Amino acid sequence: MSAAEKTTLHSSTLAVRQAVERSQYGENSEALYLTSGYVQPSAEAAAARFSGEEEGFTYGRYGNPTVASFEQRLAAMEGTEAAMSTASGMSAILMMCMGLLQVGDHVVCSQSMFGSTIKLIGSDLAKFGVQSSFVPQTDVDAWRAAVRPNTKLLFAETPTNPLTEVCDIAALADIAHAAGALLAVDNCFATPALQRPAELGADIIMHSGTKFLDGQGRVMAGALCASQQLMTEKFLPVLKSAGMTLAPFNAWTVLKGLETLDIRMRAQSAQALALAQWLEQHPAVDRVYYPGLSSHPQHALALRQQNGLGGAVLSFVVKADTPELGRARAFHVLNQMQVLSLSTNLGDTKTLVAHPATTSHGRLTEVQRQAAGVAQGLIRMSVGLEHLDDIHNDLLRGLNTLASVK
Ligand SMILES: *Cc1c(COP(=O)(O)O)cnc(C)c1O
Repeated sequence: MSAAEKTTLHSSTLAVRQAVERSQYGENSEALYLTSGYVQPSAEAAAARFSGEEEGFTYGRYGNPTVASFEQRLAAMEGTEAAMSTASGMSAILMMCMGLLQVGDHVVCSQSMFGSTIKLIGSDLAKFGVQSSFVPQTDVDAWRAAVRPNTKLLFAETPTNPLTEVCDIAALADIAHAAGALLAVDNCFATPALQRPAELGADIIMHSGTKFLDGQGRVMAGALCASQQLMTEKFLPVLKSAGMTLAPFNAWTVLKGLETLDIRMRAQSAQALALAQWLEQHPAVDRVYYPGLSSHPQHALALRQQNGLGGAVLSFVVKADTPELGRARAFHVLNQMQVLSLSTNLGDTKTLVAHPATTSHGRLTEVQRQAAGVAQGLIRMSVGLEHLDDIHNDLLRGLNTLASVK
């Protein structure tokens, strides 16, 4: 497909048709190229490829045809000029920070970001002289107030885990650009099927391909989507020297996952909305967090920003008078499940259910945990594709006998 043809195609078409470079065999499904090296047609071509004057693969750490297909398809779906993939979501964030920041630079992040992101930017990069501020996710004024003369990057994640807080991407893009900084958005939870941050002014979109892009819990992967200039000048040099390269097999798996992303995200969002509405009515449930509910504080913003859909992740709190009882009752619900998976991962066709207070947020002190809003009675669900009745029944076993836990 030429570039002109591509622009006339819809996103769902690009998800199955973009970047299908067929070999001489004419295979219909994307080929998987398992190779670490490449044979060069001539010494002159090798020299031109290594110097960057000519396109062509030179070494597996720098590029691979299957990996390139995944990158081109993801970029088309996010609406950016280019994408570069990495071995995991966290290594995509590392590549971004190594490419953009140096000692003395400052980053503003939400305090509700993925735990490893807070650790990487707040602690690991601090060792190399990178400063950071963490602000309340939904408080636009706090983001603006945190900007300093040396701020180079604002990094947001929306919706967040586990409370599904939504921030205003367009407003944060304005703050970043007014300060001469860039805005990066972690788009793991919404995916380009629901939310395209580039259209709202974000400069960099970061992905953990491990989650919904693969969508079936098989491989680790990560990516950054941005302009060709950022890729060439900032990120490619880091990838080449630091080597957080995505393996071809993993790239192929996620590439095929992208083909069903749109249909999965629509179906799983519809299931999550129905489940959230049902949980909100259940007498044993204290509170439900889900952007698709009208009770969600950023409901209108979420629908506007996320293509009218709430996503596949929701959380709820079981009723209890004390934190100890909340934990015991949440454990009871999890231990009664026979169908759903007790797992801290997310973004699978299988429904995954977790207790954040003792797993993903288990290293926080009780005070930090309460500030983060992660109650002991909180249960997080990444809603999959099982029949809704079966999901209800699996939860009801525990919810209907909660009073027996004292
Ligand atoms: C999982 C996750 C990451 C990290 O991705 P890995 O592939 O596990 O390295 C980053 N951000 C969010 C929101 C995630 O859910």
